[in-house]
Amino acid sequence: MAQRVRELHAAGKQVISLLLGEPDFPVPEPLQEAAIAAIREGHAPYPPVAGILPLREAIAAYYHRRYGLPYRPSQVVISNGSKQAIFNALLSLVEPGQEVIVPAPYWVSYLPLIQLAEARPVILPTTAETGYKLLPDQLEAAITPATRALILCSPSNPTGTAYTPTELHALAEVLEKHPSVWVISDEIYELIRYEGEAFSPAQLPALYERTVICNGFSKAFAMPGWRLGYLIAPQALAEAATKVQGQTTAGANLIAQKAALAGLKGDVEALVAPMIKAFRARRDAIYAYLQNHLPQTRPYLPEGAFYYFLDISAFLGRETPRGKVLSSADDLVEYLLEEGVAVVSGSAFGSERHIRLSYAVALPDIEAGLQLLTQALGALQD
Ligand code: PMP
Repeated sequence: MAQRVRELHAAGKQVISLLLGEPDFPVPEPLQEAAIAAIREGHAPYPPVAGILPLREAIAAYYHRRYGLPYRPSQVVISNGSKQAIFNALLSLVEPGQEVIVPAPYWVSYLPLIQLAEARPVILPTTAETGYKLLPDQLEAAITPATRALILCSPSNPTGTAYTPTELHALAEVLEKHPSVWVISDEIYELIRYEGEAFSPAQLPALYERTVICNGFSKAFAMPGWRLGYLIAPQALAEAATKVQGQTTAGANLIAQKAALAGLKGDVEALVAPMIKAFRARRDAIYAYLQNHLPQTRPYLPEGAFYYFLDISAFLGRETPRGKVLSSADDLVEYLLEEGVAVVSGSAFGSERHIRLSYAVALPDIEAGLQLLTQALGALQD
């Protein structure tokens, strides 16, 4: 879609893009300075495979301060983005043919990563009524002797909803009966949160010894292009992930590691506060707008991340002014693009009845995009 939008722009067509999966903010100043200083040092040796020790220490200290979780630096493995951390976790954890449970809607890369690890994704659909969150009964019913892991993403891409500690407790009670099932906890949006308590499944005693935390610097630190993420896991798994990474990409970019270290050394929450404030204002503005103009899309207030997942069921089966019947989210997204607003089809996340809007976009663009969306949907005929 991003490529299509670029082509349309090049052809002189105005398109408002609500596609972005990355903050529209610069890398915070102290991180920029640390990166420049790292370059000026003039040395560029291979970094240690699992990352530089001060950064591993800083990450362990951060999880201790923010979540009360005790980890040794040796349990932290730094990667080239959290996507690689998730892949390292899967390759270290699953055997060919095993099953990995993925609640839908899910982040696009989970299924291919599971398949590359020669395991089988087991997709569990969720609904708007539960905030697109997995229920304990659903989890219980899906677990088989082949189940090896459950992937949780909270706050979620694409919905922005987040599990409460109580909800995670209830899932942990199910997992307590199945000690061989691990949790891969994608916490990349944990700092981008507007409501509720930041809580990791690793905080539950039943899950601490079998949770792999995956996190990174692409979202809260606005540095996706510098490619830096990490996992935190029980020692044996951290060592396995280090071996995998040692024979694939080896250690992550040293400049990015030094920048991230500067970010974690300061007051992290204060550093990201201005960006979170802007996201919150946009989130609230979109909610108010949708409630007034598009209540059929079942608007809700996401607790975190920077996405809205809109239910477009009410518009399926309708006809565009040019006579095309819209039978899926993909059709609707195509039509919206023709009308000048680009959004992501829910099919990328496992739903044919939703579209995803990103609000990592300036407020005037969001407002213009929402108006185009309303006009385009209003022009559809029954
Ligand atoms: N998990 C989720 C839920 C994401 O949205 C993303 C980025 N879109 C990632 C992981 C990967 O991020 P990165 O590899 O840039 O750290």
